[in-house]
Amino acid sequence: MQEHQQLKPVHADSQIKTYSLSRSEKTGQDQIMCLKCGRVSHNLNDVINKYCGHCHVFHEN
Ligand SMILES: [Zn+2]
Repeated sequence: MQEHQQLKPVHADSQIKTYSLSRSEKTGQDQIMCLKCGRVSHNLNDVINKYCGHCHVFHEN
């Protein structure tokens, strides 16, 4: 049985994302930016859960 692959190509722009994951050049920490409110969080839990503490929403894929 072949399982469905969740991985998507890096340059797949067919989906509209509501968040942006990146890495801080200063601290080397992963960070998440909410594209709705523009808030950047360095909170690891926010990054893992794709959560915006400002919008109080979990970003979907
Ligand atoms: Zn937000």
